[in-house]
Amino acid sequence: MKKILNYINGEWCESSTGKFVPVLNPANGQVLAEVIQSSKEDVDRAVQAAKIAQKSWRLVPAPERAEFLYKVAFLLKERKEHLAQILTSEMGKVIAEGRGEVQEAIDMAFYMAGEGRRQFGDTVPSELRNKFAMTVRVPIGVAGLITPWNFPIAIASWKSLPALVTGNAVVWKPATETPMVAEEFVKIYEEAGLPKGLINLVNGSGSEVGNAMVDHPGIDLISFTGSNEVGSAINGRAGALLKRTSLEMGGKNAITVLEDADLDLAVDGILFGAFGTSGQRCTATSRVIVHESVKEALTAKLVARIGEMKLGNGLDESVVVGPVINRSSLERIDEYVKIGQEDGAKLLTGGKIATENGLDSGNFYLPTIFTDVTPNMRIAKEEIFGPVLSIISVKSLDEAVEVNNNVEFGLSSAIYTSDINRAFQAMRDLDTGLVYINAGTSGAEIHLPFGGTKGTGNGHRDSGVAALDVYTEWKSIYVDFSGKLQRAQIDNY
Ligand code: NAP
Ligand code: MG
Repeated sequence: MKKILNYINGEWCESSTGKFVPVLNPANGQVLAEVIQSSKEDVDRAVQAAKIAQKSWRLVPAPERAEFLYKVAFLLKERKEHLAQILTSEMGKVIAEGRGEVQEAIDMAFYMAGEGRRQFGDTVPSELRNKFAMTVRVPIGVAGLITPWNFPIAIASWKSLPALVTGNAVVWKPATETPMVAEEFVKIYEEAGLPKGLINLVNGSGSEVGNAMVDHPGIDLISFTGSNEVGSAINGRAGALLKRTSLEMGGKNAITVLEDADLDLAVDGILFGAFGTSGQRCTATSRVIVHESVKEALTAKLVARIGEMKLGNGLDESVVVGPVINRSSLERIDEYVKIGQEDGAKLLTGGKIATENGLDSGNFYLPTIFTDVTPNMRIAKEEIFGPVLSIISVKSLDEAVEVNNNVEFGLSSAIYTSDINRAFQAMRDLDTGLVYINAGTSGAEIHLPFGGTKGTGNGHRDSGVAALDVYTEWKSIYVDFSGKLQRAQIDNY
């Protein structure tokens, strides 16, 4: 059986716990590997290694740091197919999406390598004569990364690459469900020749390893993507220790379809948004807010098309919808479907665990659509993280915007309309970090900031130039070349 170990201070190593847990393929329950379960002591060793490595790394010129990132980018590119196959095997998303996710990491690596020659600061005039003023970004120290299973390599790339290119060292805890692709990513850093101690992989549970990272005084910031429950607990504890936290959490994303929309275009966007990655994207479309006059037409098209979506093992190229991550997730989704029915929503299609054609050996849920959903039902408000879509009808754009915004999350929203004025009104009024016009709720590109408003996050962004803000402090520098004491605000007024 393949064993996945930790990577600490440039070495693959076991933990003193000696404990391993199995890694399962969600499409068929097959055991793919075993992953080590680490302890606080392992976290501590990783942090000590990271601290030492960061001391010299911060002095390496950023363009030279970026050379390692270029190597990482080329290795990711070379291994794209291999990584996608592993990703699909352990996480379940269909192979086309697995390839897309690896591409996201490749793009991020090239993009952040480019940041080695940017990381711009400002030079600004001083208010005093013979004095010079400027700002520079400086690394924070050791970045603790805690990542989820749904985008196991993309999210890890969004966090580790900007952390490293700005001069930090990394301690990374991947999700317990997806350690294989994490191991492959770290091997690539190793092969790229990244100096030892700069990237440390510590596998284990959130409660043991995650908590130890949050509490460790040697970790200066925590970048987390995952559930609100865990994110908010991390924020409370890290906040008390005055650590920076960057949190990306849940979504309850909607596509609005107005009466002047191209309905076939909207249907493509809705199906990909709601059932791609089996609804387990943070940007998944879980609500459709439709103008009442086109509700029936849109619904009929959706139901007709859903029958064509083949469920199965994501490694099969003809499969469109893969499994969900694990058994408990499958049961939680089924629970939400029952809640929807009890609350009076009308189930149009799906609504049960798929068992035919051998699907019962994996975690498959039938693509599910509810209609006659009202904004206050639980299925319209809470994140389900599965292939369940709720259709809500409205009478106007204003009402659509209100329904869109009236949830605790603010990650992504989309609107289909052919009216440019209404598109611009939506761009202004939809209260989410991502807004799409005539495209579905997923489709972020790595050179733009990624993240959400309200309960989705705490104001930080992954990816884009905004990611640099998470991993750096600003230092303001004044150089007085007057040869005398010049007191700002006093001697010049
Ligand atoms: P999760 O349970 O919060 O887990 C995320 C990560 O946190 C995992 O590595 C997990 O470890 C770890 N963790 C769990 N408990 C912890 C604790 N007490 N202290 C520190 N770390 C802890 O989330 P999930 O169920 O894996 O992922 C689904 C959620 O992620 C959804 O809510 C989704 O919307 C969100 N998500 C958001 C974004 C975004 O960018 N906004 C992107 C993707 C996903 P274990 O694996 O060992 O439990
Ligand atoms: Mg969890």
